[in-house]
Amino acid sequence: MSIALNLDHSSAVRSPVASRPSLIGLGKPQLAEALVGAGIAERESKMRASQLWNWLYVNGVTDFERMTNVAKPVRQLLADKFILDRPEIVSEQVSSDGTRKWLFRFRDPANPLYPPVEVETVYIPEQDRGTLCVSSQVGCTLTCSFCHTGTQKLVRNLTAGEILGQVLMARERLGDFPGGSRPDDGGLVPADGSRAITNIVMMGMGEPLYNYENVKQALLIASAGDGMSLSKRRITLSTSGVVPFIEPTGREIDVMLAISLHATNNDLRDVLVPINKKWPIEELLEACRKYPGLSNARRITFEYVMLDGINDSDAEARELVRLLAGIPAKINLIPFNPWPGSNYGTSPSSRIERFADIVNKAGYASPVRTPRGRDIFAACGQLKSESERLSRKDREALAG
Ligand code: SAH
Ligand code: SF4
Repeated sequence: MSIALNLDHSSAVRSPVASRPSLIGLGKPQLAEALVGAGIAERESKMRASQLWNWLYVNGVTDFERMTNVAKPVRQLLADKFILDRPEIVSEQVSSDGTRKWLFRFRDPANPLYPPVEVETVYIPEQDRGTLCVSSQVGCTLTCSFCHTGTQKLVRNLTAGEILGQVLMARERLGDFPGGSRPDDGGLVPADGSRAITNIVMMGMGEPLYNYENVKQALLIASAGDGMSLSKRRITLSTSGVVPFIEPTGREIDVMLAISLHATNNDLRDVLVPINKKWPIEELLEACRKYPGLSNARRITFEYVMLDGINDSDAEARELVRLLAGIPAKINLIPFNPWPGSNYGTSPSSRIERFADIVNKAGYASPVRTPRGRDIFAACGQLKSESERLSRKDREALAG
């Protein structure tokens, strides 16, 4: 999208509404702090924060007026001081296989001169689960050579509220909040039907461990037992290998870990996943061995994209098994998903089966990830938005 198109939204971005801070993405202590800042008595703030928490994250309310157990003058005060912003839906596409992809647009109240940014979020319904694939950044600083997001420069990190906003908006659209209704296009929620979204994977746009604090905050809220209450066992954070943040992820966020390995030697991994030049395979696997809470019941998933003639030989399958020896692991083979301009091909299915066979015989579960939502370009590694980083000159022009 050109900068001129983004200008269409500049008046809204600069409106007084947008300059009020959003409460979405705040935990209970921060909510209490914000309330005190707004003039609510300290002794009342904890109780009010609990009420707000419940309205925001359990009931999915977007209007202070609906907070019926909050006294009317307090509701008015809150509405004067804060917003409960969620992303705007730019588009929503539904694949023939039920996969759903949204393009969400976020305004940035903290940076009113900055144009809104857009990210993609994907919902993948299966028999026994419904998985939301969430973005952590607009674009990515890393340049993995097979990934479409990697061709988009980093525009900015998403805030905790924006990461969580994707989950809230998806829950809203899928009828997951109390009193909500499911979309009527059938067959898109897990069979038990209780919740459309049971799992979260941080596998959308961006490298979550390069936006650690915001991702942590969002996931802690998503998994809090008295809030959205998604099980930590059903939240997976995928990283290309930002080694220093692997241990804190286990200790502080305590979610499942997935590693984008994709190669069994450093020469190839340097090309496919260039962050490998900074933290090579040995260091990465060492960090995995020390991942807090690692056990046979809590394995690390190693993602391996199957690139025709590049990394898919029998010898590499055997090397993969050798490398992972001693690490409680699952191996996830992902057929490469092509995108316009990509230079790789997808390994033939006979090759993927042979590779999987070697890995299986060595005792690893190695599901081959079925590409989902290919017709709407929603499969792994195909996400990209048109948001552009603005130069200082353009920002000044925007400011008028
Ligand atoms: N930045 C994080 C998470 C987002 S990518 C990471 O790299 O792990 C989620 C997964 O999709 C990663 O394993 C990534 O390597 C993989 N992927 C990227 N592009 C792909 C493509 N075109 N086809 C298949 N998988 C891809
Ligand atoms: Fe970024 Fe992950 Fe894509 Fe690599 S694979 S460019 S880390 S989003």
